[in-house]
Amino acid sequence: MTRIGFIGVGTMGLPMAANLVKKGFAVTAFDMNPAAVKAATAVGAAAAASAAEAVAGADLVITMLPSSPHVESAFTGDGGVLMAARKGTLLVDMSTIDPAVTRRLAAAAAERGLRFVDAPVSGGVPRATDGTLAIMVGGAPADFEAARPALAAMGANVIHVGEVGSGEVAKLCNNLIAGVAAVAVSEAFRIAEGFGVDPKVITEVISKSSGNTWVMEHMHPVPGLVARSASTNEYRPGFMTDLMCKDVGLAVDAARGLRIPLFVAPAAQQVYRLASSHGLGRKDFTSVYTFLKPSAENAPV
Ligand code: NAD
Repeated sequence: MTRIGFIGVGTMGLPMAANLVKKGFAVTAFDMNPAAVKAATAVGAAAAASAAEAVAGADLVITMLPSSPHVESAFTGDGGVLMAARKGTLLVDMSTIDPAVTRRLAAAAAERGLRFVDAPVSGGVPRATDGTLAIMVGGAPADFEAARPALAAMGANVIHVGEVGSGEVAKLCNNLIAGVAAVAVSEAFRIAEGFGVDPKVITEVISKSSGNTWVMEHMHPVPGLVARSASTNEYRPGFMTDLMCKDVGLAVDAARGLRIPLFVAPAAQQVYRLASSHGLGRKDFTSVYTFLKPSAENAPV
């Protein structure tokens, strides 16, 4: 039986770990938050008191952490993954982070005789729960094949994108588009409302037209139009505004490094940043719709 050390059993990590347990993997979970570890034991994982303990006996290590600094510290900190894992262990980072950091960590892992693939995911909590995530993988073909059974327990579409870091590149390209789309859909629906046109009918029209987008169909920012959307559940995440801000920021930073001019992504990033500073950081990212409300009636146009 493959033994998996799972670090980061938060919003996404918990249902992912639960699916691994269901498919027969022996999972040992660690999280900085003791309540998260407790929740993992409730779905059948063993608890570890540290990252080192989760990793010690593992054949495969999964990390599902918020952002680049969290992953770097979990890997390179004292008692971190790179120190604690046995030679030959396959490390699978499923967090969404900077591809340059991924490549640095992969090189550090190789120096210690460890294997590394990046495998960020798309689909959010509903698909993490159903075990139907899209998983985009960067790494050597043999390492991809070795990771595949565990990844298939968590996802329905497991795609090998290319060399290490390529999974993260695919992910930040996807989230640039989704992040911009949520702002665009919110703006469009505010205009429709301003004219008193039924958002349900507008949704129907756009879903059959060139403006259709996954964000509108599955994560509609306007409450009450899509049953499983975060907006219909008081914008409970889902995917937090702060995480979307981070992901669009990863795309903006990558473009700066590549000297590619970007216009709409930096604008969307600032919308998320501002929404976050107005208290929406831990709400679902589609809550930007509530932030883009019309100004007071007597404001000059
Ligand atoms: P989360 O904040 O809910 O969970 C992260 C967990 O990591 C938390 O429980 C936290 O306590 C733990 N943690 C942080 N640093 C740690 C450390 N050094 N050691 C051990 N535990 C640590 O975040 P999430 O929503 O589960 O997102 C995780 C990753 O998945 C992010 O990179 C995010 O961008 C990506 N992602 C999220 C979604 C989504 O819908 N939530 C969808 C796709 C991708």
